Amino acid sequence: MVNFRFSPEQEQFRDTVRRFAQTAIAPLYQAGDTNKTFPRRQMEAMAALGLTGLRIPEAFGGSLQPCVVSGIAAEEIGRADFNCAYFVEQNAFLGDLLHRFASPALKARYLPGMADGSEVMGIALTEPAAGSDAANLSAKAERQGDVYLLSGEKTSVTFAGAMDHCIVFAKTDLEAGARGVSAFVVGANWPGASCTVLPSIGSKCLLRGTLSMDHVRVPRDHLIGEEGQGFRVIMSGFDYARAIIALMALGTAAQSLDETIAYVKEREAFGRPIAKFEGVQFPIAEAHTMIEAARLLCYQCLWLKDEGLPHTKEAAMCKWWGPKLAVEVIHQCLLLHGHYGYVDDMPFDQRMRDVMGLEIGDGTAQIQKIVIARELMGREVLPYR
Ligand SMILES: Cc1cc2nc3c(=O)[nH]c(=O)nc-3n(C[C@H](O)[C@H](O)[C@H](O)COP(=O)(O)OP(=O)(O)OC[C@H]3O[C@@H](n4cnc5c(N)ncnc54)[C@H](O)[C@@H]3O)c2cc1C
Repeated sequence: MVNFRFSPEQEQFRDTVRRFAQTAIAPLYQAGDTNKTFPRRQMEAMAALGLTGLRIPEAFGGSLQPCVVSGIAAEEIGRADFNCAYFVEQNAFLGDLLHRFASPALKARYLPGMADGSEVMGIALTEPAAGSDAANLSAKAERQGDVYLLSGEKTSVTFAGAMDHCIVFAKTDLEAGARGVSAFVVGANWPGASCTVLPSIGSKCLLRGTLSMDHVRVPRDHLIGEEGQGFRVIMSGFDYARAIIALMALGTAAQSLDETIAYVKEREAFGRPIAKFEGVQFPIAEAHTMIEAARLLCYQCLWLKDEGLPHTKEAAMCKWWGPKLAVEVIHQCLLLHGHYGYVDDMPFDQRMRDVMGLEIGDGTAQIQKIVIARELMGREVLPYR
């Protein structure tokens, strides 16, 4: 049986989030690009609506919804403010990860704050010399009695300039490749830890930056899962988070398209609304077609995850296509606004710059296509290891 309908509760949830996002979130979007202030107030308002706890169990202050619900939230917040949609995606991804792998004490310590919006949790995997080749880490964690000493340099960490804690990946066994990687919760302000902000071309308010660690003392109970499980931990969550990322981007593109449709029906050239020209209609029709197709792929992926079915290939398909398509659609929308689209106070260039970040973040298109090829043709086609 195939059913493409959201449940009445999900439709109601979408309406509620859309109304909230358009009134409480959207008006602040462009200010974040100018003043580069972390959108804490928006995050707290989203938390009050339950949007930061969608993958956190009730016992820890969340509501543990199906993944499809996180997708709806990400899409609707993405329509209003792509950057605030990170709070849905990152908390779903990291909340889920802690819920499934952390000890009860660790969950009790960090999940309630994530759900109620008082805790900003980042993730630090990337290093200056290890991005796509994510297992090739240099950061190390040495066990000394009841603590691990973490040292190394992490970079490109979203929220670095605002986070309270961070899930850090470091080697507990330097010789063991991916199997030597472990995951820890680390305080961004603990002795030996320091963060700096990298000037970015987009998502400026999210304060992406570096995390330096010099013998940071991390309690042993802040290890997530077992030693050497870090890679398994992260890869198990990356998959469906990729569909949520694509929905954030597609929400931003869909909003741009709606605004463009309204504009071309008003704007006149050659004595008629420009919407009457095929050259204007066709790119709009094409954009709508592709957004719809990509959305369906994303919701299929989230549904597969909710059903406990394999979805690695679908997630990688969403991730390489969704943000790329969104950037292309937003660019087209800018062009259909003529010179007005190029004026600074229109949101299109910011949307393009913001969405473009997640063509790279969480794995580039090339890496996603390698995953798809591996799923289609087997591990023997991998170009490495
Ligand atoms: C907006 C944004 C947010 C981010 N947030 C975080 C975060 O919160 N935490 C975190 O840890 N990291 C984060 N990152 C980092 C991100 O995950 C990495 O930038 C990404 O994985 C790519 O790594 P790299 O930048 O080192 O590029 P590289 O690995 O150096 O790749 C450079 C280029 O080579 C290509 N390439 C590399 N290997 C191959 C291959 N085998 N085949 C074909 N092409 C290849 C890549 O696709 C890319 O085009 C973020 C990045 C951005 C832009």
